[in-house]
Order: sequence, then C-alpha cells, then structure tokens
Amino acid sequence: MNVHVLVPAAGSGSRIGGDTKKQYLELGDRPVLVQTLSRLAAHPQITAIHLIVPEADVDFCRVELVDHYRLEKIGGVIAGGAERQDSVRKGLEVCGAASQDVILVHDGVRPFFPKDQIGPLVQLAAIEGAALLAIPTQDTIKEVFDGLVRSTLDRRLLWQVQTPQAFRCERIREAHQRAYSGGYVGTDDASLIEWCGWPVAVLTGHPHNIKITTPEDLALARALLAAGEVSLT
Ligand code: C5P
Repeated sequence: MNVHVLVPAAGSGSRIGGDTKKQYLELGDRPVLVQTLSRLAAHPQITAIHLIVPEADVDFCRVELVDHYRLEKIGGVIAGGAERQDSVRKGLEVCGAASQDVILVHDGVRPFFPKDQIGPLVQLAAIEGAALLAIPTQDTIKEVFDGLVRSTLDRRLLWQVQTPQAFRCERIREAHQRAYSGGYVGTDDASLIEWCGWPVAVLTGHPHNIKITTPEDLALARALLAAGEVSLT
C-alpha cells in the first residue's frame, strides 16, 4: 500500500494581504509551502506528493520551488481548479494512485502538522475508509444571523478540523465523483464522505497545527518557531 499526498495550494491567498500569495510567504528561510512539502517528504511512510497550484503558477512552482529547493518525492505539479474541491478532484484524477492506496489531503499552508500522527492516521483510514485530525474547541461557538445570535451550539460536541485528512483511495475518488455529479460543495474532503453517508474517524490533532491564512497567523507561526514550540524538521 502506497501513501500519496495531495497538497492543494491553488487558492488566491488573498486574505493575507500584500502581493505575495500566502503559500509563498517566507517562514524560516523558505516559503511556507516549501516547508510543508519538505516535512511531508521526510516522512518515511509517504510515497509521493502531488502539488496542486494555480494554472498560471505551474511553471514557476516547478522551477522556483521543486527544482530550486530540490524537493523530494514530488510526483507532479498539477493545475488546480476554481474551488478547493475542484483542485483536489483534479489531483485525484491524475495522481496515479491505486485503489488500495491511501490518499492524504493536506493544506500547503499547514507546515506544523504532527508528524507522529501520520502513521496512526493512515492506519485508521485504511480500516475505516476515512480519518481526520481535529481538536476539541476551546471557545463557545454561536450561530449568528443578520447581526443577532440565533443559537449557542453545544461545545462538548464541537471539534475544530485540521489536515491531513486521510482516505482509502477508491472511497475519496467515489465521493468526489458523486459530489461533482450531485452539485454538492463542501469546505473539506471529509464532508464529501459524510455526504455519501460513510464514516469518518477522528484522531486528536495538535493546537500548533495552524493554517497560515492571515498576517496574524504568520506572526503566530514565526513566534512559535522563535520560542522553540514547533520545528520545521
Ligand atoms: O481558502 P482555504 O483557506 O479554505 O484554502 C485551503 C487550501 O485550499 C489552501 O491551501 C488553498 O491554496 C487551497 N485551494 C486550492 N484551490 C482553490 C482554492 C483553495 O487548492 N481553488
């Protein structure tokens, strides 16, 4: 059984502000995306990594990221689609994984994923069909409509979902095809599995596994690194 990682990094990255897309901003001495890809490549269980980027950036990423930083295990640099879900579906179509393989989907902007949880996550996905990392929410979450609170959700049931998310290949392919045909759009890949009525197992992630989406996230990531709280190796 091989483990393929799809890294969707084809967003506009507009929330970070400035001219540089968020995945190309520097963290340590390299772009965030490069840090994420190097840490994935260093994991012994990972066979191949497929990077999905905006169509206009494919050549730039091949030359300036994959070749320049000598990134290993890169199976391909793939042109993404309009929505995150389109980008992942395109990756699934061309990555060449076999039906019994496990597919991890991991955000290119989460360099601090917990390495020790990759093995258990892959194993859980192989058994259950789908598995993800999540942490119980610490905040009270309310549903708000038109500036007014509509309800307070039961915090004991709420988990903040992270990536990697892991899937048996044939299951995630089928879920993406069904969602595409049925016009369902989810904000993560596990939601497509749920939409199909299939189980998704949950493994506890780590609070440091942040998604670097805003200037505040980037400042937090740099502070965590400076304090020695996280490592990029
Ligand atoms: O926008 P959001 O933060 O949900 O994006 C999560 C990940 O999906 C990012 O790494 C982003 O680059 C990627 N994405 C993509 N294709 C799109 C939109 C987002 O690969 N069309």
